[in-house]
Amino acid sequence: MQLFADWHVHTGYSDGHATPEEIVAAATRRGLAEVAITDHGPRGMFIGVRDAGVYRELKEQAARLSELYPVRVLVGAEANVISLRGDIDVPAAIINELDVLIAGLHPQVWCRPWWETLTWILPNRIGKTVGWIRERMREANTTALVAAVLNNPLTFISHPGLVMVVDLDEVADACAGTGCAMEINTGHHYDRDEVVRAALCRGARLVVNSDSHFPEMVGELDIGIQLLDKYRVPPEQVLNARQADRKAVPGYLPGVADLPGRPVSSV
Ligand SMILES: [Zn+2]
Ligand SMILES: [Zn+2]
Repeated sequence: MQLFADWHVHTGYSDGHATPEEIVAAATRRGLAEVAITDHGPRGMFIGVRDAGVYRELKEQAARLSELYPVRVLVGAEANVISLRGDIDVPAAIINELDVLIAGLHPQVWCRPWWETLTWILPNRIGKTVGWIRERMREANTTALVAAVLNNPLTFISHPGLVMVVDLDEVADACAGTGCAMEINTGHHYDRDEVVRAALCRGARLVVNSDSHFPEMVGELDIGIQLLDKYRVPPEQVLNARQADRKAVPGYLPGVADLPGRPVSSV
């Protein structure tokens, strides 16, 4: 199996340490056909984009870079889930212009309503070091993430189960119903096996990304490929995979624009 894209990469517009051009140059060196710049949504505490208009700036840069490099450059957002109702912090008008829409649970967001920052996010932060508190948040986290999957046109959810624990079977059920994929994130240490098992068991799709914050990590996806092999996941179930022996069709790269259920703009 080959992975032709890395659709989860951060730049200095959020908490990454690279310019968009450095990311695209790194993707070129890796031989990727596509890379998506997906900076954190604006309600991330000290790690988000300054406002959602930044994604429009990035679209302009991506169009220029796509001309200069042999890589299709996409722009997306790694939106934060900011309420137990599954709201995310990227407005619909911007979502319609994005190529990729990710949502993820992060224990450093300003919620709306604000008090959920105290009643939901703060216990998850404490739960990083206190196991019983972490477990007590599982139900609330699952409710929020499932609602985000059901209520937003997501391409995939980032690193399910990382830090903020969820019921992966319930999340996978929701993903299987909407076509949203579950990410195998190679940039963080967490139990990726259970994500793959839940997706396979419930029929959800998977996607492998680096979550790179540095140019040298762009396209570093080997851990994900090993997991896909270990569980014999068919390439059709992986959004950014194709058979290793499949020849690219001239002038056509199967990519995120071909995914069902997404309002995808031109790239
Ligand atoms: Zn994340
Ligand atoms: Zn990320």
